[in-house]
Amino acid sequence: MSLPFLRAAGAALILSLSTMPNPVLAGDVVDSHSYANSAEVRTTHIALDLDVDFATSRLKGLAEIRFEKRKADADRMVLDTRALDVRSAEASADGKTWTATSFVLGDDDAVLGRPLTVRLPADATRIRVGYATRPEASGLQWLKAAQTAGKKQPFLFSQSQAIHARSWIPLQDSPAVRATYEARVKTPKGLRAVMSAEMSDAPDAAGRWTFRMPQPIPSYLIAIAVGDLAFQSTGARTGVYAEPATLKAAAWEFADTETTVALCEKLFGPYRWGRYDLLVLPPSFPYGGMENPRLTFVTPTVITGDRQLVSLIAHELAHSWSGNLVTNATWEDFWLNEGFTEYLTFRLTEAQFGQARGDMERVIGVADLKTDMGLAKSDEDRKLKRAFPSKDPDEVFSSIPYQRGALFLVYLESKFGRDVFDTFLRGWFDSHAFQSATSEQFLAYLDEQLIKAKPGVVTQAQIDAWVTQPQLPADAVYASSDALTQVDAARAAWLGGKAPIAAMGATSWTVQQWEHFFEGFPKTATAAQLKELDRTFKLTGSGNAIIAGAWYKLAVDSGQVAMVLPAMTEYLGRVGRMKLVSPIYRALAATDAGRAQAKALYAKLGAGYHPIAQQAVERIINGG
Ligand SMILES: [Zn+2]
Repeated sequence: MSLPFLRAAGAALILSLSTMPNPVLAGDVVDSHSYANSAEVRTTHIALDLDVDFATSRLKGLAEIRFEKRKADADRMVLDTRALDVRSAEASADGKTWTATSFVLGDDDAVLGRPLTVRLPADATRIRVGYATRPEASGLQWLKAAQTAGKKQPFLFSQSQAIHARSWIPLQDSPAVRATYEARVKTPKGLRAVMSAEMSDAPDAAGRWTFRMPQPIPSYLIAIAVGDLAFQSTGARTGVYAEPATLKAAAWEFADTETTVALCEKLFGPYRWGRYDLLVLPPSFPYGGMENPRLTFVTPTVITGDRQLVSLIAHELAHSWSGNLVTNATWEDFWLNEGFTEYLTFRLTEAQFGQARGDMERVIGVADLKTDMGLAKSDEDRKLKRAFPSKDPDEVFSSIPYQRGALFLVYLESKFGRDVFDTFLRGWFDSHAFQSATSEQFLAYLDEQLIKAKPGVVTQAQIDAWVTQPQLPADAVYASSDALTQVDAARAAWLGGKAPIAAMGATSWTVQQWEHFFEGFPKTATAAQLKELDRTFKLTGSGNAIIAGAWYKLAVDSGQVAMVLPAMTEYLGRVGRMKLVSPIYRALAATDAGRAQAKALYAKLGAGYHPIAQQAVERIINGG
């Protein structure tokens, strides 16, 4: 997933293990966020046969789960579900003859949903569940035509990470469980279905699109979207799916994707997924991007017409190694996905655009990290590896696993040297390809391959300081960026009355420099200064969603919300990317009057947000 946003917005999240419902074994790994009995019966393949019904906002159909018994006498399979209407369960030995079998849905938990326990006849090799999703499925968003770019057809998309796949498929929803999958998806005429898999180019006579993912993936990478979608190729292995109204601009913005894939292969080893396509979603997509294999889902807010935000694509592409190929085994090991991916993204940015650009992004990353270290509700949230699980992975989402994780790898690189560290990293990916790994497994590999193999370089205490201690180690290695230092100097000179606004040189700034400009802006600026800023750079209503969002937040922080309110309201009603929307709500919620205003805005606009974004904003405005 791209770039954090929630700033540890959660309320009290400290739960003792004893209050977690049924921590169960997922293979050798305890996954507190899944009911699955995957140590006994483990999914190997999922086959979906679904109808997409926009009239009722439901997916309806069958999910077939093939499995291997890891315990010979296992007589039940436990799946994760959330808000699913389950109508039938059948079992089969050969996939041809099916017989009804009994099933029971357990108690509903607000975070985990309900376990679905299906009885297994002794000879069963697969089960099949008949079900329908509900309109409120947390992993799906059903958009009306008016919420799309084209305004003519409805749109559906999924976001399964972290534990939302269970809201649209009954399955063993743990990243420790990997399975191949196939699907048949029937859509209304004129609409195209796409998934994170090999895809058919056209529907069959019955209107069904077919899909096949031949590599075993964790459940959170199963993804679907349906809409008025067109495709444009950008290279031999790459292309863009988008609504026709967005396609041309998207294909231009992401024209260099093929080059980036080739560069990744040079740095990190072979790309093992066949194609790498992008799907541009409507603006309510709650994240920057989601690394669904073969088909990254991406927010349209990175289409800025100047290719300045393509590092987001680099991040999602890098997940093809860290995350998709080698996967965090539980959500407590999230830094193995995101810290590695941020590190790889810095390396890619540096190789593609030079060291100055790479350093600029590292400095911005550290600024995000320090903000979130300050906002974190507990020391557990500041560590790479928590001592005990969080209740809800969405609630503790922050930049800490991303940026602290990346800084840890930067530290190791600085100690062992780039050549040695690159060989080590590549060895990690190759030796753990298509496997899920815990932090402990990574640390054991690190110990064996580097720490012990090259004694006297890094101590165990130094490793512990990074992983299991709350504060950032004093010997962390930080980058510096001249481009950002210049922004700081320009801002200070203008605000201090020492230079005119034109002398800032801001017309040639990159988006990253603008972000930094706003990030370091004091809340004490006068209304006249803000007005001059807006007048000079036409910030209100800016077509660049990153710059516009940062400007509205600054206006709120400075007590000048009236200056931007109509444009800000339009923005909050159109954009649903949490990294952009949450900070504005949080800035409003900092005062009593602002909180009331935030609640009024949310009451008006919240229905258009993705369910995950709704939860995040509700936590903010309700004092989380
Ligand atoms: Zn990510």
